[in-house]
Amino acid sequence: MTTTRSTGTDPLVQLFGYVPVYCGFTIDAYIVAPVPDHAKVVQCVTDDSDEDSRFYYPPPAHRETSRDGKQWRRKPRSRHVPLLFPMPPTHQIAPADGSTHLNSDTFRNGEGGILIHSLAFLHGARAQFSEWWFDGRIPVESREVCGIPDAQLATVMAFFLHTYRQLIPADRPRLINLLSLRNRIQSYYWAWERFAFSYMVFDALYEMCFRYKMIKQAKHHKDRFASFAQAGLICDCSRCRAHTYTFATLRNQLFHESLWHDAPITGDGPGMADVFLPRLLNVLIAQMMRVPCDYVRHCWSSLSSSALGLKPGAHP
Ligand SMILES: [Zn+2]
Repeated sequence: MTTTRSTGTDPLVQLFGYVPVYCGFTIDAYIVAPVPDHAKVVQCVTDDSDEDSRFYYPPPAHRETSRDGKQWRRKPRSRHVPLLFPMPPTHQIAPADGSTHLNSDTFRNGEGGILIHSLAFLHGARAQFSEWWFDGRIPVESREVCGIPDAQLATVMAFFLHTYRQLIPADRPRLINLLSLRNRIQSYYWAWERFAFSYMVFDALYEMCFRYKMIKQAKHHKDRFASFAQAGLICDCSRCRAHTYTFATLRNQLFHESLWHDAPITGDGPGMADVFLPRLLNVLIAQMMRVPCDYVRHCWSSLSSSALGLKPGAHP
């Protein structure tokens, strides 16, 4: 993969990727826009990706060694899959007032983090700042959570940022991690991995929603889904409820007995649990970010996609 990479040396601007959707918005102090060569970047990455899985995989790497203190040579028997690797930026964040420095760890660990991971979440992508590298495989096309009209993106992002600001400071990194981990689920290879890490995010959402009094405490771990349903935050039809029973059973067997239902650990698992639990997470995240939309009421166990349906005039 060869692309023209921005240097990222402008202290006012923060580059990030990898969001293959050409989109931008302005909220409060920030202007988020695609990089000028967005189409070229996306084309280069796509051309170098796996067409069947629609993921970009990093090429094998080698360590280097200096034999005479001057010339670096490839170290024998050092071929490996790199743990971390860079991706070209697809977007940038610039200060609306033209003066605030955004190229800092303070920004990246704060409002910058919530901006990039929220945008990636809404487009079913993964995000990282250009100075910070990726791990795992990277989706090269949008796996949209729901259809969001371009004109509504700024408003939805404003709800995410507003909710982030309403949290007590200690909880803000937790929300950033939660979104980052949700976006990372698709990069796992096996169904049981996607399910296990989805459940980890689900438990984190339960904890946050309980502490902010959005739901009542569940008596048992398996009742956590019912807590969300009783609060009216997720669909409670018989089909969705049946899936939650499956999730709880699978979780106990996997976490406590190393069992993946009756299937081999390399199998798909029952009831497409690795597909529907992430879909449930999407609804819970939209609810937690308090986005007033029809999407949160849709039947998350349906295979059909759903439009966001933002309420007219909605604003945080
Ligand atoms: Zn339902």
